[in-house]
Formats: sequence, structure tokens, C-alpha cells
Amino acid sequence: MAVQTFENLEHWYDEHPDASFGEIEADARRQRRQLMSQALTLLINGRDVGLQPEAPNCESCGQVMQFEGYRPWTVKGLEGDTPLTRAYYVCPRCSGETLFPPGSQAEAAGGSLE
Ligand SMILES: [Zn+2]
Repeated sequence: MAVQTFENLEHWYDEHPDASFGEIEADARRQRRQLMSQALTLLINGRDVGLQPEAPNCESCGQVMQFEGYRPWTVKGLEGDTPLTRAYYVCPRCSGETLFPPGSQAEAAGGSLE
């Protein structure tokens, strides 16, 4: 990804040979945001999507929750938006009681789990 980012910069500079330093910097900043978003997506999703070997218990009634699938959600970070995937559980007894098991990596990003 970093190599691709550099190639993108070179390609952009080839097409804008008269660009000022500030214009190059502005393009580099756009490229950096994309690179960061891709890298963080790969890092966090690759490590922990919240799927647990045993389904968690409902916080309200203690019933074992059911795995419903994966839901996409987005963390708005300093370097752009990062699309993530989280495992999603629901309680069969309590209607509407849902759980996205918090992943330590995702939590550290400060995103809402809602
Ligand atoms: Zn419940």
C-alpha cells in the first residue's frame, strides 16, 4: 500500500510538473489519508472482528446470545474514515438487546459501537 501511495504521488507529479510544494503537499495529504484508512482497516479487521469462540451472555437476562452475522461500521478518525466489520449478537429472549463485543483495538480508536 505504501509503495502504491508513492507511485500515485509520482504519477500525480508527472502530470503536474509545475506544481508548487504546497500543491504537492496537498496531494500527498490526500494520499496519506487513503493509505492510513486502508492500513487501519487491514490492521483492525485482520486482528479482531469481535467474533468469540463462545457466544457472550446477555447483559440483561444472562441468556446465551445468538451470533447474527457481521455489521459494517465506520470509525471517523484523525486520518480519515475507516470502515470496519464487527461481529453482531442478539439476545433471543430480550427483544432488541444487541451486543457488539468490544475489540480492544477498535475501542482504542474511540469509535462508537452503536
Ligand atoms: Zn437478554
